[in-house]
Amino acid sequence: GPPLLAVKHLGVAFQTDQGQVLAVDDVSFELESGQVLGIAGESGCGKSVTALSLMRLLPQPVSKITEGEILFKGQNLLDFSIGAMRKIRGKKISMIFQEPMTALNPVHTVGRQIAESYSLHFPDMGEKEKNTASLQMLAKVGIPDARQVMKKYPHQLSGGMRQRVMIGMALACEPDILIADEPTTALDVTVQAQIMDLIFQFRDTTGMAVILITHDLGLIAENCDRVVIMYAGTVSESASVTTLFHHPFHPYTKKLLQSIPSRAQTAKEPLPTIPGNVPVLSKMPVGCRFAKRCEHALPQCENQRPRMMSVSSGHFAACHLVYDCEKKLNFDK
Ligand code: SF4
Ligand code: MG
Repeated sequence: GPPLLAVKHLGVAFQTDQGQVLAVDDVSFELESGQVLGIAGESGCGKSVTALSLMRLLPQPVSKITEGEILFKGQNLLDFSIGAMRKIRGKKISMIFQEPMTALNPVHTVGRQIAESYSLHFPDMGEKEKNTASLQMLAKVGIPDARQVMKKYPHQLSGGMRQRVMIGMALACEPDILIADEPTTALDVTVQAQIMDLIFQFRDTTGMAVILITHDLGLIAENCDRVVIMYAGTVSESASVTTLFHHPFHPYTKKLLQSIPSRAQTAKEPLPTIPGNVPVLSKMPVGCRFAKRCEHALPQCENQRPRMMSVSSGHFAACHLVYDCEKKLNFDK
């Protein structure tokens, strides 16, 4: 059958003072059941915009999907009505955010919000049933005194507790896909590890797929099966985690990997940073968007947009060097 999710040539435009700009351009990737896919890149690279597109939750009316397909079990979500999309969201595809306060309603108790999310997806559920389900769900996400927590307002809980509540709500309907956008960035390291464990426990018991959006490559190395590296709204490279970390191809990926702090580093060795800046959306170069910062740029890089090409099986990079290597390989034969 078709993959659980196939994003094909996604393009998202934003209306700005400088006119329409492409915040996401030609983004493609696939996801299978039970798989954990990392989407990584610096802030502003389009990873959150990509995630919001999958949920059809892009900010309106300033942004819109201009190109591509989002195939969920073979059906293009971009053809779905608002009503049909509402049934997918939260039930088939759920999303959790960095700051749960944005997703939780500050003026309602936790219990009421959980009950409301059940009402939305299971309209026939009675009050008693909803209460039981809520208590079970809170216990599942590791909240010990669930009955007390239900009576509280979001601001009365710690950041880690709020994140657990949000995960519980996101997982209540056992979605096929959980999109987690920087889910642990605001939390301390210990709580971070607990939250990731919680997500993966659910993956193991339900077989749901996870899209983990983060700028933290360490988190990806530890938790993901595949990874998509984004730069300035485009995909630079995608591969299995093993391949990406051991045989990165794209010059941007190589730079990113060099910038991971390693334990061996001492105070005397400053962290390597990538020279130059990410191009601004309104002034995107026509060729490779990384060209200005790339040490390996070829003459064609400035004017020709590199398309995604296969480096090896399951390993893709959008870089003119792929073609260059192929030519060299053929020449050697
Ligand atoms: Fe560098 Fe050219 Fe590859 Fe872009 S396409 S990453 S500029 S070599
Ligand atoms: Mg973001």
